[in-house]
Amino acid sequence: MLKIAHIGHPILRERAREVGASELADPAMQTFIDDLYETMRDANGAGIAAPQVHRSIRVCIVEVQANPRYPYMPNIPLTIMINPVITLLGKGTFQNYEGCLSVPNLRGLVARSARIELSYLDRTGMDQKQTLVGLSAGVFQHECDHLDGKLFVDRVTDTTSLTTWADFERFHMASFVARMNALVDREGS
Ligand code: ZN
Repeated sequence: MLKIAHIGHPILRERAREVGASELADPAMQTFIDDLYETMRDANGAGIAAPQVHRSIRVCIVEVQANPRYPYMPNIPLTIMINPVITLLGKGTFQNYEGCLSVPNLRGLVARSARIELSYLDRTGMDQKQTLVGLSAGVFQHECDHLDGKLFVDRVTDTTSLTTWADFERFHMASFVARMNALVDREGS
């Protein structure tokens, strides 16, 4: 298991560098990807990025399968991204309640693009491309932000939305889930 960097650690604020083709094929990199995935699962994360485990390279992972930290999230199949690039599709945004393994016990509302196109290399070096909407699109935008040294708290404009995880469930989750269901009706899922 890898050690998770917390907010305040300078590595979370660097722009991570691209991974080259031969570096990706190296068994050491493949082992790192496995370790990153295990670290994410152990922490019940919806995603994780390499800078969060003190490696400043453009690698991140997303997976949601009945996640106890995000009971309202749609399932997202395991996606391992090398050098991902996000293109925003349209001007539609929504307010996403985000949390982060590197920002313990804090959540807050962040404006995210409601529809994105994601391009990346998979772990075998093959080009991949997909379109994502709503909560799923929010998770990918959050993880890719890590590769540019950005944390969700940088994007919180209404600081009164900041909340602990327990008080999110107590005071904010029901209305958030209702808004997300309306978003799914509007944007599809
Ligand atoms: Zn994060």
